[in-house]
Amino acid sequence: MLHAVQGQLGTVSTCPPAVALSHPVPTLSTPTSCADHYQSGSVQAVTGPAYVASARRASGQALIDLQAAARLKAQDVVAPNRLDQVLARVAELRRLPQVHVEDIGVVAGTLMSVVHLGCNDPTKPPKLRVFIAAGVHGNEAAGPAAALLLVNRLLVHPELREGVEFAVLPVVNPTGYAANLRLNADQHDDNRTFHCFNAPKEVKFVRAALKRVAPDLVIDLHAAVSSDGFFAIESTPTPFLDDVLKRLAADFRVSDASRIYRRRTTGVFTSNNPGTLKGYAHAHGARWAVTLEAPYEHDYQEQVKGLEQLARNIVAAAKREAAAPVAA
Ligand SMILES: [Zn+2]
Repeated sequence: MLHAVQGQLGTVSTCPPAVALSHPVPTLSTPTSCADHYQSGSVQAVTGPAYVASARRASGQALIDLQAAARLKAQDVVAPNRLDQVLARVAELRRLPQVHVEDIGVVAGTLMSVVHLGCNDPTKPPKLRVFIAAGVHGNEAAGPAAALLLVNRLLVHPELREGVEFAVLPVVNPTGYAANLRLNADQHDDNRTFHCFNAPKEVKFVRAALKRVAPDLVIDLHAAVSSDGFFAIESTPTPFLDDVLKRLAADFRVSDASRIYRRRTTGVFTSNNPGTLKGYAHAHGARWAVTLEAPYEHDYQEQVKGLEQLARNIVAAAKREAAAPVAA
C-alpha cells in the first residue's frame, strides 16, 4: 500500500511505505580521483599506486588493443531494454585501464555500476564534475543507450575530457528497464521518490553515489511521450541551455511546446514534479541539474544520437560557464 506525502512545491507525491527494507550489502569499490586516471599512451609518465594498479590490469590484456576495441564500438547503440547488453558493455569498460567502474549496489540481482572517466590530463584539477544518469524510467530506453554512446565517445575522443571528470550511471531503474516499464518492480516511480526517506533501494544507491561524486552538473536522460522534439527541463534558470538547444535544432527537432511543463524558451522548460533526480541533485549541491527528454515515438537511433549530442554540448557549455569569471 502506498501513502501520500506533501511534496516540495505543494504537489502531492507518493513515497514508498515507511518500513525497514533489508537488502544484501554489496561490495563497493570507491571512486578514484582525477589523478588516478591516465591515458594508456602515457603509462611511462605515471608513477605511484595508480601506475602499479593500472600496470597490473594492463598486463593481462597485452594482446588486446583496448583503445581500438573502444574505437570500433564508438557508434554502437545498445538495443532497447536489453539489460544484458548494458551489463556486457559495462563489463567491457571494466577492463579498460582509463575507466574505473564503481559498483554502487544490487537490485533484484543486478549490479548497478557507475562508470568513471577521469580528466584527459590527470595532472590538472578538474574544472567540472559531471554525473550523467539514465533509465530512471525503464521504458525510456534511449537514455541508457545514449549514456553508453557518450562513454564510448569520451574514450575515443579524450580531448572531450579536458578538465572534466565524468561519472555515468547507465540504468537507475534496472527492473523497470529490463521489463520495459516506467515503474520499478515494486510499482514505484523512482523519479518521484528522490526526496523520500524510504525511497526504493536503487534511489538510495544513486543518492549515495551523487554524494560521493559531488557533481557540478547533473544530466538525467529521459524520453517524453507525445513530444514533437527534444527538450530540456532545468532545475534553476540555466541560460547556457538556450544556445545549446538552439544549436541542436540544426540537426534534430526541438520541442517548443508542452502540455505538462512550463516553457521558458525554445526547448527549455521547468517543472514542479517533486522527488526527481534532477531536483534532488540541485538541492544537494549540484550547480546545474537538467533533465533531457527525447521524443519517445521518434526513431530510436535518432533519440539516442540526439540525447548524446545534447548531453555532450551541455557539458561543453557548463565547462565554459564554470571557467568564466563570476559577474560582480
Ligand atoms: Zn522519464
